[in-house]
Amino acid sequence: MADRNDTDPGVSAAVAAVDDVIDSARAELEALVRIPSISADPQHFADVRASADATVELLRAHGLENVRTAGVEGSQPFVLGEWMRAGPNAPTVLLYAHHDVQPPGIVENWASDPFEPEERAGRLYGRGAADDKAGAVAHAHAVSAWLTATGALPCNVRVLIEGEEEIGSPTLQAFLNAHLEELRSDVLVLADAGNWQVGVPGLTYSLRGLAAADIELRALDGPQHSGMTGGAVPDPVMALSRLLSTLVDEHGDLAFEGAFEGLSEPGTKERAPIKGFDDAPQRFARAAGVRPGVQLVGDPELALHERLWLRPCLTVIGFDGHPIKGSSNQIVARATARVSLRLGPGQDPDQILEQLRTHVEKHVPWALELTFTPLEGAPAWRTDPTGPAFDAARRALHAGFGVEPVLMGVGGSIPFVGPFADAFGGIPSLLMGPDDPGANIHGEDESLHLGDWRSLIRSEVFLLDELARLDSLR
Ligand SMILES: [Zn+2]
Repeated sequence: MADRNDTDPGVSAAVAAVDDVIDSARAELEALVRIPSISADPQHFADVRASADATVELLRAHGLENVRTAGVEGSQPFVLGEWMRAGPNAPTVLLYAHHDVQPPGIVENWASDPFEPEERAGRLYGRGAADDKAGAVAHAHAVSAWLTATGALPCNVRVLIEGEEEIGSPTLQAFLNAHLEELRSDVLVLADAGNWQVGVPGLTYSLRGLAAADIELRALDGPQHSGMTGGAVPDPVMALSRLLSTLVDEHGDLAFEGAFEGLSEPGTKERAPIKGFDDAPQRFARAAGVRPGVQLVGDPELALHERLWLRPCLTVIGFDGHPIKGSSNQIVARATARVSLRLGPGQDPDQILEQLRTHVEKHVPWALELTFTPLEGAPAWRTDPTGPAFDAARRALHAGFGVEPVLMGVGGSIPFVGPFADAFGGIPSLLMGPDDPGANIHGEDESLHLGDWRSLIRSEVFLLDELARLDSLR
């Protein structure tokens, strides 16, 4: 691949403009992190609204036009903006990020307040510091850098900052249908993915899908004395534990019938071992904070990257019985588990949830009452990372980081990508972002690598120029 021509004075001036304002960009990011915009928690809906309003201010302050919140029935606020003055011959780029965040988890486990950003060793700690408020601020500053340096952008830009990504984008399809013309674009640039490692940019070409359900088992009208009734009356917690244990095999790999239905077999290229990763599972385990001696799970015949990116898996993300605190010698009436499935390419969330339901119905111990409630779902996404738009992204990331990007899969899910690309006839989707293996997004002590964040913003500045120069995007 040819190196980009770096002599264009507009690009150089715009990149220099990023460096000039990086401190104030960081202050803007910190202000957003202070808003606990937790979309999963109704008690924080006002904060999600406040976060949307702050994002509107951010985009306006950096020269975007027609900036406003938007939504459909029941949605969290989306933020839209645009700069469409590059003319009809220039491509239109949609810049995507989200302003909602995950709940903080166990606050005591954070070294600093999740909603009071703090820098330690070159990283900014706080919920949403990386996922994905850093993405929203990066977009604002890529636009701002061009406008400050040259008074114009090399291409048309639309910005969409979502407010419900962390709950699986429940109203996304309705929102797209209602705002199709305002969103129409030729290429999607998403800043909600991440880098291969610190200093090495990533370009993501596959995401896993998502499906979830609540499984409740009820045995009793109300709690019972465990001495008077235990030994004859079934314990719902034990029943649920036995049921959950049938969902995986001895390797922790999915074991219910139909769990792999629809899964597309990876090609030889996708299966090829990744040097420095598949041959070093212990390094991955350490980076993930796996305790010494704890084994990794999944089909041991398969490479680590295939298990993480291209296969389904299941996690119990919530379990209700009785808290230990305040517990007494009683059999609780009911127990509930929330299970979350990640799906591989080709799998249909609704179909897998039906398979799960069928399995669960067959395996309820002692005929307890079962309530199975399917929750959100989104299919996996995968693209062929070739063609002019991908080449442009590779050149831009190389220019921004000084290092060739790694083409990578990600085990997580971003429900937005597939439906959005499809809505405009399968436009190229370029997934980059501020995450890295040490960022611990969704976990405690989430953090952003500040040096790589600057490189990301610089890369976006280069990317707008690269995309504007292409004769054709596909
Ligand atoms: Zn995210």
